[in-house]
Amino acid sequence: MSVYKPASADLGAADRDAGRDRPRLRSVLPRRAARRQLRRPAARREASSPALAGPHGRSSSGTAPRAPIPYIVAREGEMEESLLDLRAFLSSAGSSRISYWNETLGDRDGQGVLWARFSQSRDEHGDLTGAPRWKMISTPRQREAMSKLLCQFCGEPARMPDGRLLFLNSKEECGPNPNTTIRTAQPPFCLKHARMAPQRCPHLAEHGYVALLTQSAPLYGVIGTPYQYTADRTIQAMACDGVPVPYGSAALDWIVAAQLVRTPRAYTVVNLEDL
Ligand SMILES: [Zn+2]
Repeated sequence: MSVYKPASADLGAADRDAGRDRPRLRSVLPRRAARRQLRRPAARREASSPALAGPHGRSSSGTAPRAPIPYIVAREGEMEESLLDLRAFLSSAGSSRISYWNETLGDRDGQGVLWARFSQSRDEHGDLTGAPRWKMISTPRQREAMSKLLCQFCGEPARMPDGRLLFLNSKEECGPNPNTTIRTAQPPFCLKHARMAPQRCPHLAEHGYVALLTQSAPLYGVIGTPYQYTADRTIQAMACDGVPVPYGSAALDWIVAAQLVRTPRAYTVVNLEDL
């Protein structure tokens, strides 16, 4: 799995709001300087998607040729926009977790994990716009594709007619023995785009790939930026090695997620040409 590069900045301080159990956060950086420092992409990694056309890469003008932009590739104008809104939430019971000042239900997933807020460049029809940022993955679209099991190229349902799912993982990610437990942040492919991917994707071409067929790929956890609440009551981003953190882990209380991870179960290694 590619290395996840977290933002690193001193974000602010949190205090207990006496009597109301609501912590306060004060920024320790000038707001403009802090924004410059914090606008680092939370999900930056090598885009391992091939350059293929899909309905979500089509120009909304109807006249321009289809741009070969996979669904989950980030676009110009899309950025993480939320780091200054982070705070420490301290409960009356003594527990704590990372939170947003203006948190809404959509900021957490079904497991209660906080997600990075990442804008999307879409026109009035909902079509994606903007030039591709090939080395970045869109956090909300990776999460959408992974949670709904959509093809990472075209954004359409990835399950084949027989219900199976097809994942392509680089040999770099799978390691020397593909018959091991795999945690992947790569959403599945529909069969059409899986067949095209190895020829079009620089990452798969460079490292080789393993095609995995499975009936089941349950959610495992997330990759994200870990934060810590320091002795001087500031929230500080920590280094991240890109290793997925499983749902249920206490560490998730202090992680802002950027990628959703699944575990293909009882998979079969297949040759794409045989499908
Ligand atoms: Zn597809």
